[in-house]
Amino acid sequence: MSRITYVNGRYLPYVDALVHVEDRGFQFADAVYEVIAIRRGGLVDEAWHLARLARSLGEIKMAPPMGEAALKMVLREVVRRNRVQNGLLYLQVSRGAAPRDFVFPRDARPTLVVMARSQRRQDPRLLEEGVGVITVPDIRWARPDIKTVGLLANSLGKQQARAAGAYEAWQVDRDGRVTEGTSTNAWIVTPEGEVVTRQADHSILNGVTRRGLLQLLSGEGLHLVERPFSVAEAKAAREAFLTSTTNFILPVVSIDGAPVANGHPGTLTLRLRALYDAYVAAQRGAP
Ligand code: PLP
Repeated sequence: MSRITYVNGRYLPYVDALVHVEDRGFQFADAVYEVIAIRRGGLVDEAWHLARLARSLGEIKMAPPMGEAALKMVLREVVRRNRVQNGLLYLQVSRGAAPRDFVFPRDARPTLVVMARSQRRQDPRLLEEGVGVITVPDIRWARPDIKTVGLLANSLGKQQARAAGAYEAWQVDRDGRVTEGTSTNAWIVTPEGEVVTRQADHSILNGVTRRGLLQLLSGEGLHLVERPFSVAEAKAAREAFLTSTTNFILPVVSIDGAPVANGHPGTLTLRLRALYDAYVAAQRGAP
């Protein structure tokens, strides 16, 4: 099936979907984005993703490309034209194309690109066996809470993980505390049973999956703490896991090659994953 991509008002065949060489997304990473899971043709937690997009745009003083109602129509149309039932929607907004200059252009129109693609079912072994992470220094800029396309540090970290045979890299701040994964949020369960994830300040991206899980946890009577945790604490944890739109919840069973607890997925992690799957399944599919 040929794929269709939305670019600035037009639905184009994937091969013809192009932006200008002087687009500021390309020149300066002057662009923000969202990745939204598609299930049964519907967008999972769409409202939270659009709220985060609006926040990212506001933080970098970029005008929205269109009103929210129009944007929602475009997103649905891209999903529909690509006939995606289960997959991912990617949308990117840049400040537009203009002669190269750090100063914002006065009259450039934002560039909007929207893509959707089907995804194969997640490899069940990831959940059954869990995944390994390595730790790397967090070398990103000071505002990773803004979801910009400036993802080179994330890419370098993920590549380092894969070269080491690991699934993800957990980035570590100057005080030895985990900020987050390169494309996932990081969580541990302490020996005392606290469920810990870093507070959503400027040091991490406030993941939509993180947000959804926090909401679910509050109804489960669990002891939840939003605070930083050190690499040493993570290595001594009873359980560890990661969350993201692309993975939902996956158990982390090793850190820098050393097993977390007995090296098997934690029982609480698996319970939370089942809860989260049910939460996603309860959302509306395509209208
Ligand atoms: N942290 C970073 C750096 C990310 O890039 C992502 C997702 O791309 C996440 C966390 C998880 O966020 P979400 O749950 O919204 O996918």
